Amino acid sequence: MRLVFLGAPGVGKGTQADKVAVQYRIHKISTGDLLREAVRNKTPLGLEAKEHVDQGRLVPDSVVIGLVREKLADPSHANGFILDGFPRTVPQAEALAKVLAERGLQLDRVINFKVSREEIVERLSGRRSCPKCQAIYHVQFAPSKRGDLCERCGEALVQRSDDQREAIGTRLRVYEEQTAPLINFYEKQRLLSYLNGAEAVETVYHNLVKALVVPQTA
Ligand code: AMP
Repeated sequence: MRLVFLGAPGVGKGTQADKVAVQYRIHKISTGDLLREAVRNKTPLGLEAKEHVDQGRLVPDSVVIGLVREKLADPSHANGFILDGFPRTVPQAEALAKVLAERGLQLDRVINFKVSREEIVERLSGRRSCPKCQAIYHVQFAPSKRGDLCERCGEALVQRSDDQREAIGTRLRVYEEQTAPLINFYEKQRLLSYLNGAEAVETVYHNLVKALVVPQTA
């Protein structure tokens, strides 16, 4: 199964992608995670991406497309994949179609997660993450039982630089301007299913699995 999870930051794409990955035994490819890892490790890619990521702006298409092209060549993705946070621009979507076509492949489904702007801001501004094991918490909705420390590994939790108010505003603006046009792009190809991402995680997952089995394009 070859899937794309589309939606603004904070709609829960990553959480749902993790669950689908386990259930369907395919890998999640999150360009956000890959870029953050590169930034942490100070690789040439990380050094190029850092400022863009910190400020909530998009990393240049050529850089991200190269990264995804390289990942998709990995035999571990032969069974399928979930792209989380890619494509984010029309040129990225066109490049993806080209990379897949070169291998005689195409996407099976694109899921568009919808959540209101108010809820997104609430979710992102309260999000905390563990820099060591990458566990995710929310100060109000899913606090760590160990306060400011990670419940799993004891590391001090941090707020992502792009989860601070100013960067959240930039990310939402970037989404509207550059990523939202992909809804039309994939709708025209009859690949798109819509999901209400504001419901409980398990409800969203239930609806997601239904959409994968019997695609709902309404
Ligand atoms: P995410 O974790 O998906 O919200 O991504 C975090 C940040 O990584 C984004 O705000 C961008 O700076 C960068 N990024 C992730 N995916 C892409 C992409 N497909 N194109 C450009 N920049 C990206």
